Amino acid sequence: MRIVFIGPPGAGKGTQAERLIEKYKLAHLSTGDMLRAARDAGTEIGKKAEAFMSRGELVPDDVIMAIIAERLAEPDCRGGYLLDGFPRTIAQAEALDAMLAKKTTPLDAVVELRVAEEELFNRLAGRGRADDNPDVIRQRLVAYRRQTEPLLDYYAEKGLLEVVDGLGTVEEVFDRVTVVLDPLAE
Ligand code: ADP
Repeated sequence: MRIVFIGPPGAGKGTQAERLIEKYKLAHLSTGDMLRAARDAGTEIGKKAEAFMSRGELVPDDVIMAIIAERLAEPDCRGGYLLDGFPRTIAQAEALDAMLAKKTTPLDAVVELRVAEEELFNRLAGRGRADDNPDVIRQRLVAYRRQTEPLLDYYAEKGLLEVVDGLGTVEEVFDRVTVVLDPLAE
């Protein structure tokens, strides 16, 4: 099963992703985690990404596509994967489509975790990551609205979009996602 997980910062994608990969035995591909690991390791990519991340801006598409292409080629992705935080722009989605078409491994579904903006702000402010201060949070929400939300129409037109209400307990939200994904699991 190949799944894209979309949702604004603070929607709870990471928490749900951890449980979903366990249940469906998927590789977890979080570009945010990959970028933070690269930053902490002090690699060239990490240094380049940090400038954007610390401002709450998206990292350039070419940087992201390079790390994703490399990761998707690893053997554990053959059994299926959950893309978490990627794609985040139309350009990334198109590049992903082209890559998957070449491998003849299309996406099975795109799950949007939908949460109202007031709620997001409260959740993020309580989390304490370096990019969770109010100014950067605001910028990340702007980036989501401008650059990532257009992907919802993009995937809806392809018939892949599933919208899940992200409000409620972790358990409640998880149950809603599994209702959508269970029929797709082999
Ligand atoms: P969140 O969704 O909570 O903001 P992430 O961990 O997914 O957190 O991403 C953190 C930061 O990493 C983003 O604000 C952005 O700068 C960068 N980033 C992650 N994924 C991408 C991506 N696909 N394209 C561009 N930038 C990305």
